[in-house]
Amino acid sequence: RKKIGIMTSGGDAPGMNGAVRAVVRMSIAKGCIPYAIYEGYEGLVKGGDKIKRMHWEDVRGWLSEGGTLIGTARCAEFRERWGRLAGAKNLILNGIDALIVCGGDGSLTGADRFRAEWPGLLDELIEKGEITAEMCDGHRELNIVGMVGSIDNDMTGTDATIGCYSSLTRICQAVDFIDSTAYSHSRAFVVEVMGRHCGWLALMAGVACGADFVFIPEKPPVEGWEDEMCDIIKKHRALGKRKTIVIVAEGAIDRNLNEIKATYVKDVLCEKLKLDTRITTLGHVQRGGTACAYDRMLATLQGVEAVEAVLSAQPGDESPVITITENKIGRVPLMSAVKQTQAGAECIKKKDFDGAMRLRDREFEE
Ligand code: ATP
Repeated sequence: RKKIGIMTSGGDAPGMNGAVRAVVRMSIAKGCIPYAIYEGYEGLVKGGDKIKRMHWEDVRGWLSEGGTLIGTARCAEFRERWGRLAGAKNLILNGIDALIVCGGDGSLTGADRFRAEWPGLLDELIEKGEITAEMCDGHRELNIVGMVGSIDNDMTGTDATIGCYSSLTRICQAVDFIDSTAYSHSRAFVVEVMGRHCGWLALMAGVACGADFVFIPEKPPVEGWEDEMCDIIKKHRALGKRKTIVIVAEGAIDRNLNEIKATYVKDVLCEKLKLDTRITTLGHVQRGGTACAYDRMLATLQGVEAVEAVLSAQPGDESPVITITENKIGRVPLMSAVKQTQAGAECIKKKDFDGAMRLRDREFEE
């Protein structure tokens, strides 16, 4: 019976537990044996009790739980060949030759690298006498399937990453709370949201919260934006609006790549518009708590698809990453999606903002 490993890696995101639950149960339903690899690549490198066979009831109640119950970590050892050798040995010792990784672009890059090195890693382990050739029989191909777990919604080629809508829900709730005070005192609030170098979460928050102005890294404001922002807010206020919400993405920059700080935006609003302005940095509240309904659905449907992808893989196939496009679950080549995602970040560094906008679009360019 095929043994399938599932791990969560990189930053935690609501919905990761739903993904693990779906993979575990679909594996069992398909006659396979699921294994949870605890603490991401750290558990793979350490082995032992970090790799645990999972049963149907082990994931009971996991669908709504926030974070990841099998743990996650950033693992420097897995970036080294000796770490990946240890990981390969632990998989062979457990008879696992399929790995579903739920994480960000870094985790998926690591998984692809592992797969590319796979038979070579086994040969080296055999040569060193750490495993035998017989133990590798039937396991000379490593099957990798990626699932994107990230609150940032920063993967190209998929409309939504597991966790981004839970995070958006949390941001909306927080802004609703802030709204009460903003309205009562006729105040302005500058709200800083997560997303690192990607503006998707901030953009979605801007739309969903009806913000007056949004700063995202892919579309830095033009020089003199201070006046533009104030004119827009003045217009809104003239129409009777009593509250002002400005969203600043964590990675917001100007056209010279200088960080746009929430404190600076606040000073502009205070000085130019004489608005009583406060800053709210939502921080980890945005990634905590239960998964929203959409993430429960997404994680479950994608977990099912990930197991299907493992079972339908043919030798030599490219590793897929599971996506959702126009409400349909699908697959695209993992490394193409990762490379396109990373190319978007590179465009920003090179001040090619049009390129960044195009690459950060949901379209996947084959
Ligand atoms: P997030 O988007 O939340 O940051 P991520 O998956 O991009 O998630 P990373 O810290 O980049 O987070 O990667 C997670 C782990 O994946 C790393 O700690 C490392 O163990 C492994 N990894 C990342 N890149 C590589 C690589 N090039 N080679 C081997 N392993 C890697």
